[in-house]
Amino acid sequence: MKNKGIFDCAIIGAGVIGVSVFNKLTRLGKKCLLLDKASDVATGASKANSGLVHAGYDPEPGTLKAKMNVRGNFLFPRICKRLGIKLNKCGAMVVGDDEEKIKTLYDRGVKNKVDVKILSRQEIFEKVPALNKHITTALFAQNAYVVSPYLFTIALVDEAILNGGEVALEEDVVAIDKTELFEITTKKSKFFAKTLVNSTGAGFNEISKLVGGEEYPIELRRGEYFVFDKGIDLGAPCTIFPLPTKLGKGVLVTPTVDGNFLVGPTSEVGELSTKTTAQGLKDIKEKSKLLFENINFKNAIRQFSGIRVICGDDFIIEKSKKVEGLINLAGICSPGLSSAPAIAEEVARLLGVKNKEVANLKKIEPYFVFKDLPKAKQIQLSKENKDYCEIVCKCENITKGDVVLALHRPLKIRSVDGVKRRTNAGMGRCQGGFCFTKVINEICKQNKIKYCEVLKENRGSNVALGNIREVQND
Ligand SMILES: Cc1cc2nc3c(=O)[nH]c(=O)nc-3n(C[C@H](O)[C@H](O)[C@H](O)COP(=O)(O)OP(=O)(O)OC[C@H]3O[C@@H](n4cnc5c(N)ncnc54)[C@H](O)[C@@H]3O)c2cc1C
Repeated sequence: MKNKGIFDCAIIGAGVIGVSVFNKLTRLGKKCLLLDKASDVATGASKANSGLVHAGYDPEPGTLKAKMNVRGNFLFPRICKRLGIKLNKCGAMVVGDDEEKIKTLYDRGVKNKVDVKILSRQEIFEKVPALNKHITTALFAQNAYVVSPYLFTIALVDEAILNGGEVALEEDVVAIDKTELFEITTKKSKFFAKTLVNSTGAGFNEISKLVGGEEYPIELRRGEYFVFDKGIDLGAPCTIFPLPTKLGKGVLVTPTVDGNFLVGPTSEVGELSTKTTAQGLKDIKEKSKLLFENINFKNAIRQFSGIRVICGDDFIIEKSKKVEGLINLAGICSPGLSSAPAIAEEVARLLGVKNKEVANLKKIEPYFVFKDLPKAKQIQLSKENKDYCEIVCKCENITKGDVVLALHRPLKIRSVDGVKRRTNAGMGRCQGGFCFTKVINEICKQNKIKYCEVLKENRGSNVALGNIREVQND
């Protein structure tokens, strides 16, 4: 069993929250370990959400949700700029026919110090002519963004690795002992750390139990979505929400940073399953009519769902009272993505880490794909490297060069979905029908591994059982 020295902090859970903490503490000069049972970062709630950086008018004033959302919203543009990640400031509009409810939301926004405005009926339809004509009133927040939640997480982890952070994926934690240090035992390794952050989302209680920390009642709420084909314009230049209810922000319509539209999510209390259901998809179709009466769902190319992890009304961001040096991050549901940079700052504060970044931090290469580059740069690159002249994904126009680059980023991956999150290969209309095997071949070649070692997503999802002859002989 390997022993990798003593870390200042071990973070268990590599969603956007754990990765933000990992990135922040590394930038502040701490020796950090990020540990997850999955085969990549951002495979939980952080890959399956609306991708919105909320302005911050929705959370109840005075709550951690409000504080973290507003601060996170402020930090997002500078972090995305640093990472070379697309962030689209499209704004958000909450629409309805109940002026009192819109006014309540407006007052909340003002209390949270968010730039909000109530629009007249004329202003609403000037901005979004295709909206349902029964809409009479709306709240508009200009400081709302869309981002790729997984690419944001991936870029943060790559940057942290470049600056000395260590990542251990596919690690099943089997025991955590606390003496002077945290001794974390997995099936493969043993790690020692002075402090421990539990950011395992739906797995929070499982890890907490191992270390003797607090456990909280957790409610899981699935959200299903439709993704629309590129080129299909649903008529929403900004994110459009209905009025929120107790169950959440409702079925919204939003442009994504990649140029598709999303419609969803549902809010279904239940188990930890990311399947989509006939009933959920039917509900989305019905509820979307409140916003746009005639969305043609035949233009949807995919459905997906993500799981919200809810612990009461607010986020739990605290020092454990039971285990010294343990930080609990529980119930980080929406607006968790928007709040992630602020939660990372708060964890650093709780751990007493001085807020001073290390000098000469290394910068990562921006996350471009060939098709997004200016023409002159494309010509130069294609002359230098023939991989940029070969299209791997026809729907999204992703080149072999893009795939190779993704596989040589600091965090090494061996899954087709990992390549998809980094390049968009497989996200188009044919959903990987054309590029799936090409991507697998490239993963084998670049990682020097066998075909059957390539994963679709997590362990156990190997794309092949073995060479035909080997399998037949079994
Ligand atoms: C449908 C939906 C829509 C949303 N929309 C938005 C939005 O538009 N804007 C916004 O701000 N927020 C949104 N959110 C909330 C946001 O997605 C979450 O707050 C955020 O992704 C939570 O990140 P996380 O890191 O806590 O959890 P996760 O991303 O779930 O990560 C937890 C990690 O812990 C790992 N793990 C679990 N158990 C163990 C274990 N025993 N050992 C090792 N690792 C373990 C998992 O593998 C996973 O990688 C939405 C959420 C959902 C579900």
